Amino acid sequence: MPDAAPILQATITCPVCGTARTETMPTDACRFFYDCTGCGALLRPKPGDCCVFCSYGDVPCPPVQAARRAAAPAPGRPAAGEGITADAGDPPSAAPEGRCGPRAPGSGRRPD
Ligand SMILES: [Zn+2]
Repeated sequence: MPDAAPILQATITCPVCGTARTETMPTDACRFFYDCTGCGALLRPKPGDCCVFCSYGDVPCPPVQAARRAAAPAPGRPAAGEGITADAGDPPSAAPEGRCGPRAPGSGRRPD
């Protein structure tokens, strides 16, 4: 069961030399440039990608992870309506006896 925390480490594979290196992704910003440690190539995101992690990493950046998680239905969620209406036990429509009826407690009190 995956937790809610995004993955903050991604392995970037250089498309030029194939060097793979695990980098920590910043959560507050997208990393637009990445210097390959193998060949020194300056990697930039592909068109349509927001950062180099989305283009060359094995894990998209945290904002994209959150967006994908919000867009996709979460697997393993219980079906809605299961056991919700069957065991309520206290329906609000049934008024308790003696609260709003004509005979209130103490109404028949008459000194005689
Ligand atoms: Zn490289």
